[in-house]
Amino acid sequence: MKSATKFIHAGTEPDPSTGAIMTPIYQTSTYVQSAPGKNKGFEYARSQNPTRKALEEALAVIENGKFGLAFGSGVAATDAVLKLLEPGDEVIAGKDMYGGTYRLFTKIFEKFGIRFHFVNMQDPGAVKETINSKTRLIWTETPTNPLMNITDIASVVSLAKDRGILVCVDNTFASPYLQNPLDLGADIVMHSSTKYLGGHSDVIQGALVMNDSALREKLYFIQKSCGAVPGPMDCFLVLRGIKTLHVRMKQHCENGRIIAHWLHKNPKVGKVYWCGFEDHPGYDIAKKQMLDFGGMMSFTLKDESVEAAMKVLCSTRIFALAESLGGVESLINHPASMTHASIPREERIKNGLSDSLIRLSVGIEDVEDLITDLQQAISS
Ligand SMILES: *Cc1c(COP(=O)(O)O)cnc(C)c1O
Repeated sequence: MKSATKFIHAGTEPDPSTGAIMTPIYQTSTYVQSAPGKNKGFEYARSQNPTRKALEEALAVIENGKFGLAFGSGVAATDAVLKLLEPGDEVIAGKDMYGGTYRLFTKIFEKFGIRFHFVNMQDPGAVKETINSKTRLIWTETPTNPLMNITDIASVVSLAKDRGILVCVDNTFASPYLQNPLDLGADIVMHSSTKYLGGHSDVIQGALVMNDSALREKLYFIQKSCGAVPGPMDCFLVLRGIKTLHVRMKQHCENGRIIAHWLHKNPKVGKVYWCGFEDHPGYDIAKKQMLDFGGMMSFTLKDESVEAAMKVLCSTRIFALAESLGGVESLINHPASMTHASIPREERIKNGLSDSLIRLSVGIEDVEDLITDLQQAISS
């Protein structure tokens, strides 16, 4: 099936009791049994819910996987993956990643005896050197938030495979329209469904997709035992969001391409971080593993003072100053004080995330209006 058909039909079957074309919002906590233990496959809504089930099937289909699991947030999905580990186990993760993931790893899981190594994921040699007999998981984001670095998924997988190390890819920035890590050999794909999957800035949710049924059983056990499940209304919203993912992503990519090139030519702009530039160090890999380059980018001004960046951040009228990304509306964000404030400043600077970096989530408004808005903010 081609992707447009897949995104629209994934997981949804007409409701068996009424024929409703849209999966209803099953707002229920429990299910009546005809005799003790005799049920219709649904016992208690932390374990099973029909709206969530439809979404989880859709998640599997759109990531070319066998099994999907939905969680109450992206970090709850990440939390579930980490709970596969035991004290003493080690994780290799990228230096450049979403601040909330870094916080979960270092502030929560380190105290339970899990050890994290943050390496340059763009260098497979650095990953290889860090692998030892205790390594259980490699965690990578690509493109990374907010520096748009690209990890070569297939080469990381090749380092992990014969050593029995799990590879989990946070695919939030690319979305399943642009990239399918399971096809490249990854074991688990993670999403903050809050972003492109939901697509309308109206829900917080996370997802995991995998192929291995034993791995699915372990993660399902964690999902129901720890209980970070999304409610049925939120599942309905993400299921609806997925139906237009391909149309939205095409426009995000088109607007993103135009704005990245416009920024690049702007005399007041310093460096532009977008993986679609031919001189981007990850360009060839991005081209190989992604369908297009997306609508996420970051940039600095020639005037590298924090004040100049703050002025731009406070002057846009269409780009709203807010955390998050992937919605139909354009957002502007200051990673150092917003999305990445949970990473210590020295770490941020060392990894190339300067205090004056500005991140854009380019939405699907008219691109000329977006450029006019950036123009007036940058020249103000
Ligand atoms: C937002 C985000 C997360 C966390 O997801 P939530 O839904 O906010 O919990 C994880 N990874 C990336 C890349 C993100 O952008």
